[in-house]
Amino acid sequence: MTNIAEEFGSFVFNESVMKERLPKNVYLKLRQTIYEGTPLDIEIGDVVANAMKDWAIEKGATHFTHWFQPMIGVTAEKHDSFISKNGHGKVIMEFSGKELIKGEPDASSFPSGGLRATFEARGYTAWDPTSYAFVKDNALYIPTAFCSYSGELLDKKTPLLKSMELINIHALRILRLFGNYSVKRVFPTVGAEQEYFLIDKEISDKREDLTFCGRTLFGAKPPKGQDMEDHYFGSIKPRVSAYMKDLDRELWKLGVLAKTKHNEVAPAQHELAPLFTTANIATDNNQLTMEIMKTVAQRHGLCCLLHEKPFEGVNGSGKHNNWSLSTDTGVNLLEPGNSPFENAQFLLFLCAVLKGVDEYQDLLRASVASAGNDQRLGSSEAPPAIISIYLGNELTDILSAIENGIKYGGKTQANLEIGVHTLPKFQKDNTDRNRTSPFAFTGNKFEFRMIGSNLSIACPNIMLNTIVAEELSQFADTLENCTNFNDTLNKLIAKTIKEHKRIIFNGNNYSPEWVKEAEKRGLYNLKTSSDALPHLISQKNLDLFKKHHIYTNAEIKSRHDILLQNYCRVLYIESKVMLDMSKKQIIPAVTKYIKNLSETAISKKQIFSNIDCSLETKLVTLLSRLSSQLYDKVILLEDTISKIPDYPDPSERSIFYRDNIIQVMKEIRDIADKIEENTDKEIWPYPTYSDILYSV
Ligand code: ADP
Ligand code: MG
Repeated sequence: MTNIAEEFGSFVFNESVMKERLPKNVYLKLRQTIYEGTPLDIEIGDVVANAMKDWAIEKGATHFTHWFQPMIGVTAEKHDSFISKNGHGKVIMEFSGKELIKGEPDASSFPSGGLRATFEARGYTAWDPTSYAFVKDNALYIPTAFCSYSGELLDKKTPLLKSMELINIHALRILRLFGNYSVKRVFPTVGAEQEYFLIDKEISDKREDLTFCGRTLFGAKPPKGQDMEDHYFGSIKPRVSAYMKDLDRELWKLGVLAKTKHNEVAPAQHELAPLFTTANIATDNNQLTMEIMKTVAQRHGLCCLLHEKPFEGVNGSGKHNNWSLSTDTGVNLLEPGNSPFENAQFLLFLCAVLKGVDEYQDLLRASVASAGNDQRLGSSEAPPAIISIYLGNELTDILSAIENGIKYGGKTQANLEIGVHTLPKFQKDNTDRNRTSPFAFTGNKFEFRMIGSNLSIACPNIMLNTIVAEELSQFADTLENCTNFNDTLNKLIAKTIKEHKRIIFNGNNYSPEWVKEAEKRGLYNLKTSSDALPHLISQKNLDLFKKHHIYTNAEIKSRHDILLQNYCRVLYIESKVMLDMSKKQIIPAVTKYIKNLSETAISKKQIFSNIDCSLETKLVTLLSRLSSQLYDKVILLEDTISKIPDYPDPSERSIFYRDNIIQVMKEIRDIADKIEENTDKEIWPYPTYSDILYSV
C-alpha cells in the first residue's frame, strides 16, 4: 500500500523540495519572489535551475518545457532536452537560470488576434515562480507567462496575475481602514469543481461527431435518460471507479488537490472537486486536471468528454468556480464574523461583490461565452444566461434591514456604534441552497456556476478579481477621505445595497417568470456568445481594464476577435460534420431501410396476393417524406455555408452564424432524430444514445 501523503506532490518542485535542495539564502530569496513578488536575480536563477534539473532528472526527466496558456484556452508546450555537448563526443545535462527564466517558443502560429501583426512577430515566455514546476511524461514543466517582445500580453496567465495583484492592493487598503496592519497580502482563492462524461472509447470512435466536435450532433433520446434521477451520487461502477482511482493518483503526484468525486445527475456523468488554492495555482491545476482526465481515460479504454453539452436532452457539464478572498494570515474575508466590527468588514466586501457583479454583469457573461457553453446556458438544467446573485433569504433580509435602517427580525442585536447588526452564523451546508443560481453565496464564498466544463477558468477569475478590486478601490477612496468612518461606512453599505439590490435573486432561475422579471429590473440577458462577446470592448469595460492596467484596448480587442473567430470556427466545423454524417451515413442508411421495407412488401405480395402491406406502406411513406425533408435542409445548410460573406468584423460574422446556421442545424437534427426513431437499429450507422450513455 503506497502512502498517499508521501506520494502527494512527489513530482512537484514544491516548498519542501526547494527547502531541502537549495542553499538557505537562495531558498529565502526565492520565497520572497513567490510570496512578495520581488524580482529574481539571474545568479539565483542559475542555482535554482541547477537544483531543479538534478531533481527532475531523478524523476526521469530528460527535457524541460515552458508551459503556457495562449489565448485560445488550452495549454502549450515545446520541449528542449537538457543535453549539451562536452566537447569529447559526449553530452552533459545542463539547465541554466536563463533557460528557466525566459524562453522563446516559436509561437507565430498561436492566434494573436492581430496583436503581433503590427509589432514584433515573436513572443517569449517568462517563468511564473508562484506556480510550482512539475515533472510529467519525462519532462520538467515550468509554468510561464507568454508575452510579445513589445510587451503585449498573449496569454491568460499574465492578466490573471495582474488582477490578483490588483485585488491585493485594494483589499489591503480596506483592511488598513479597519485597523488591520498585520496582513501583508490578500489573494483570491479558487476551487473549481469539474464535471465530465465518461464513455466507452470504442463506441465513441464510431461517431464522427464525437470524434471531431466532442459532442453528438444527432441522437434520438434513449428510453431511459436521466428521468429516474438514480445516477446522482449513485454507486460508482467498477470501471469508472478504477478510472477515478487512477486519476486521483496521477493528479496527486502532480500536486493537484483532488478531493471529492461522485456521479452527477446524467448517466455517465461525473464530477471531480479539488481543495481550493490561490486563483493562479487553481487555474494551472484545472488545466492539468482536464488534460490528465483525458489521458487516463485512454488508458482505461474510455473517452472523457469535456464538452459543455455532449448529449441533447441530458444535462450538460459545467465548472463551478468557488471564489473567495483570503489573507496571508489565513482569514477568509467572505466569512461572516462574530462581532459587529468583523461583520461590517464582511458586509463591505459583500457589497463590493454585489456592486461589481451588477455593474459588470456583461463582463462575467462574456467571460464564459463559447459556442459549446451556449448549448448549455439557459436550458433549464444549467444557469440561465442572466446573471444574478443568490444570497439566501436570511442574508437578503439583513441587507434590507440595513438599507432601511431598521433592526433585523429580532434575531440579532443592533450595534449602535457601527449600526451594523450582528449576523447570525450561516449554515455552510444548508440544504435549501439554490442550485439554479448562476452566482451563489454559499456561506463563505461565491460559487460562479456559468463556466463551461471545457473552458479555462482564467478569464472568469480575471473578471471577478478586476471588478471586485474596482469596487474596493472606490470604497477605499470614499472611506480614506472621510471624517466620520462609522457613519460613512454605514451610509456606503446602505447606499450600495439600495443601488444594486436588483442583482439579488433568490428564486428559481429556470422559471420563465424570472426572464420577465429580470428584464423589468434592467438586467442583461445575453443569450449567445455572439451577443455577449462584443461587451468585452464596450467603452465602460475598456475603461475599466485600462484604468487598472489589466488589458490595453488592443489586448482586449484581440481577445474579443479570437473568441468570436473561435465561435464561428466551431460552428463551421460542426455544420461540416453534420453535412457529412447526413449525406454519407444517415441518408444511405434510411434509403437502405426503405428498400428493405419495399422489398418485404413486394415479396409478401408475391406469395400472398391480397395481404395487408399497410405497415410497410406507412413506414416507407413516413421515412421517404422525412428523408426528403432532411435532404432539402442539408442542401440549404451547404448552400448557406458556401455563401458566408467575407466579413472583416468577426462580430458580424458571428451574427451571421447565430442567425443563419444554428437554426438550420437544429432543423436537420430534429428530422434526423425522427428518422432514427423509425429505422431498424441494425441498419443505423452509428451507436445510439443508449449505446453510448450506458456503455461503461
Ligand atoms: P459543494 O459546493 O459541492 O457543496 P463545498 O462547498 O464543500 O462543496 O466546496 C466546493 C468547492 O469549493 C471545493 O472545491 C472547495 O475547495 C471550494 N472552496 C471551499 N472554500 C473555499 C474558499 N474559501 N475559496 C475558494 N474555494 C473554496
Ligand atoms: Mg458546488
